[in-house]
Amino acid sequence: ASFKDLGLSDWLCANLKTLGIKKPSPVQANCIPPILRGEDVLGTAETGSGKTASFALPILQRLSEDPYGVFALAITPTRELASQIVDQFEALGAGMTLKVQTIIGGMDMLQQSRLLQRRPHIVVATPGRLRAHLESDPNVKKAMASLRFLVLDEADRLLDSTFEEELFSLLSQLPSKRQTLLFSATLTKNLTQLQELSMKSAFHYLA
Ligand code: AMP
Repeated sequence: ASFKDLGLSDWLCANLKTLGIKKPSPVQANCIPPILRGEDVLGTAETGSGKTASFALPILQRLSEDPYGVFALAITPTRELASQIVDQFEALGAGMTLKVQTIIGGMDMLQQSRLLQRRPHIVVATPGRLRAHLESDPNVKKAMASLRFLVLDEADRLLDSTFEEELFSLLSQLPSKRQTLLFSATLTKNLTQLQELSMKSAFHYLA
């Protein structure tokens, strides 16, 4: 199948071509159609499998159709992963109006708060810093009310002991009417719990 066969718009297919990405990887071929149909998706995929594009492409497509309606939040365990996700959103979404905001530790909280108030389309965050914002700034919680997509990236690592409590606290503060996309390298017992807590009946792609 081609990216077009998966249901992606011509402009996204053109961007993929420019980036030299020719054929959907297995995680993309399996996960993009259900995400475009509006389903929650749980996918197992390693870094390097193309999993970032498998959630970024359908999110960008929805955003292009409804530039004021989509607010996507991607939670990932490390700053490095966060910046890679931002880079991919920007590369794949080239040519569209797109505000992507990173919320990670080591940067000024107040400046991050101001940027969040400008209603970015996509927020890519690490758990600790995002929780700090949610707890200290009522405007951040208000901004989250329009959340349409929640991405839990590298969910097995998000469930490492240091993050687990933070993650469950975060989930309790996010609106439940949303589409949730959960990606993990492995399917652990903790993950089943996270799945039960964060999503409804999900489409499963197990590599
Ligand atoms: P990820 O698994 O999301 O960390 O992606 C790893 C790298 O693969 C990124 O640099 C992508 O640009 C690239 N990539 C994503 N999808 C494909 C694809 N279908 N074919 C070739 N490369 C891809």
